[in-house]
Formats: sequence, structure tokens, C-alpha cells
Amino acid sequence: MKIGVLASQGAFAEHIAKLRQLEAEAVPVRLPEKLEGLDGLVIPGGESTSIGRLMRDYKLTSQIRDRAKNGLPVFGTCAGMILLAKKSSDAYPESLGLMDITVRRNAFGRQRESFEAELTIPVLGEKPFPGVFIRAPLIEQVNSQVEILARLADGTIVAVRQKKTLALAFHPELTDDLRFHQYFLDIIAGRR
Ligand code: GLN
Repeated sequence: MKIGVLASQGAFAEHIAKLRQLEAEAVPVRLPEKLEGLDGLVIPGGESTSIGRLMRDYKLTSQIRDRAKNGLPVFGTCAGMILLAKKSSDAYPESLGLMDITVRRNAFGRQRESFEAELTIPVLGEKPFPGVFIRAPLIEQVNSQVEILARLADGTIVAVRQKKTLALAFHPELTDDLRFHQYFLDIIAGRR
């Protein structure tokens, strides 16, 4: 399986390493040509305004949007999730608008700007998943097409799936837990 990882800015190297651990072929994507022949695309965390601007400047935005609409599975983490959302409750970075979710950027006030939480995620099994949140967004609203995969203890939605698109408010690539990357590969393979 050949997975592209958008490498404009942010934590792309970590995603590439995780995917390779799972024996997928993982390649950095900086230019539209590199989207050719991919089975899936990861959009990493980083700074959504910068990633959005670079995607636009390198003519990736419309290409990614078109391919996703034609069925290319996409996995966004943190800033990547912001870029997948149709709506954001603050100044909007250049977005792909692929998921029927409304997000709020930098949603956890100063004290909880960065934190870790053990998440219960039924689709991954019983063992809690280590959620690493770094100046994370949250998901304020979803429509009926969207499956909620995880919430914080207070009910805040932090992981969602819509068909073959997956979005997390946290950073699985910064943990040793490979289950979310495996889950994405399973979505691509049609096993999930
Ligand atoms: N705060 C960043 C943003 O708004 C996201 C942070 C992250 O990806 N860790 O884009």
C-alpha cells in the first residue's frame, strides 16, 4: 500500500515512520505530481494556517479535494483535522472542506494547551489510547454522516470518521501506539 504524507510543514516525518513500521510504503508529498498512484493520504499536525497556505501555493488544495471526492482515503491529525473540516468557528485557514464537522482551533485554554488523556476508543478495542493533545482543536458539531470515534471524559468530541476520511484532534504519530495508523490502513483495504 502506498500512502502519501503531506510534507508542507509539521509532524510529517513521524507519520512516515509509523506507516513504515506497519510495512506500508510511505512517501512525502510536497507537489501535486506526488499524489499520483496513492492509496491514501495523511495530513499531519503542525500549523493549519501555514499548511493551508503552502497547500494552496503548491496547487495541492484542489487536487487533494478532487481526489478525496473520488474516493482517496484521507487521515488528518490536529492541524490536519482543521484542514478537513467544512467549518471552523474562528478565522478560517484555507481548507479542504471534506468533512461535515465544525471545529474550534486552539480550543483548550492556556492551562490545558497541551495535555495527555487516556481515551476509550471502541473501534480500537479495550485498551485505552494515549491521546497527546498539543494546542489542539476540538470538534464542536458533526452531522449525521459522521461517526464519532472518541470523546474526552467531559464529552468533547476528539475523533471522527466520515466514510474513508478519518480525523483526530490529537497526535497518534507521537506515541508508540500504532492502532490508529493500522485502522487507517484497514479503512483503505476495506477491512473496516
Ligand atoms: N494549533 C494548531 C492550529 O491551529 C494545531 C496544533 C497541532 O497541530 N498540534 O493549526
